[in-house]
Amino acid sequence: MKKQPKPKVAFFDFTDCEGCQLQFANMGDTLLALTELVDIVSFREIMSEAADEYDIAFIEGSITTDNDVLRIKKIRDKAKVLITLGACATIAGVNGIKNRSPLEAAKKIVYGDKADIISSIKAMPVHEVVKVDYAINGCPVYIPEVVSVLKCLLMGKPYVVPNYSVCVECKMNENVCRYEKDQECMGPVTRAGCNSWCINNGNRCYGCRGLVEKPATDAAKDIMQKYGLKVEDILNSFTLYNDSMGEKYDQEFK
Ligand code: SF4
Ligand code: SF4
Ligand code: SF4
Repeated sequence: MKKQPKPKVAFFDFTDCEGCQLQFANMGDTLLALTELVDIVSFREIMSEAADEYDIAFIEGSITTDNDVLRIKKIRDKAKVLITLGACATIAGVNGIKNRSPLEAAKKIVYGDKADIISSIKAMPVHEVVKVDYAINGCPVYIPEVVSVLKCLLMGKPYVVPNYSVCVECKMNENVCRYEKDQECMGPVTRAGCNSWCINNGNRCYGCRGLVEKPATDAAKDIMQKYGLKVEDILNSFTLYNDSMGEKYDQEFK
């Protein structure tokens, strides 16, 4: 029987720190196993070759210029499957902080007297510009979740991102709540899927995976009630990621 050609995979980065691609590159044996199933044809962090033809496109980074818009549309036209890799691409990530100020003011703060010659638009997640087939949250991405998404991708199945809060995973991991230690934590309103990675390692949740759907009703109510918390209060304390939630955030919380 004739062997099917392996799908070609390419990685692209837009506005980001490339930390999510680094996570991917550091997958070790899993990355080697993946190369049995796909041909990685472009991946700047691990190889110098780059190909123009690909089937699967991994996109890291937010869309922040008119040129980015044109480029992502061209990639989408070529790719059979498009996957966002990390918070910058999936929810606009830390780049969304720019959207808190009027664009001209933000440009002035960053570029000073060169602001007028810099092309910049509001920071957008990729799905605001083109169709996204799979979205991987996190800053950076959580490798066990990347592996789950890859399995779904290769089996042609959808990947369902958890729609409950990080508190659920945190409780299952039997962590002492950060609120018990007089620290604030974004867990009650943040979408799970990272297995409460930061809290397991002695940190708090910064909300890098974005908001759960309808956090006011679906968040970990017992935590919020126990510590007298309101969704609005938590969101006011944490703006690293949640000002990048675009229209959803604007409609529900502003
Ligand atoms: S999501 Fe975080 S780690 Fe990934 S590229 Fe963006 S800033 Fe870097
Ligand atoms: S608030 Fe934070 S530390 Fe407390 S249970 Fe939720 S995720 Fe865990
Ligand atoms: S615990 Fe919070 S900040 Fe840490 S990876 Fe999970 S969602 Fe992101």
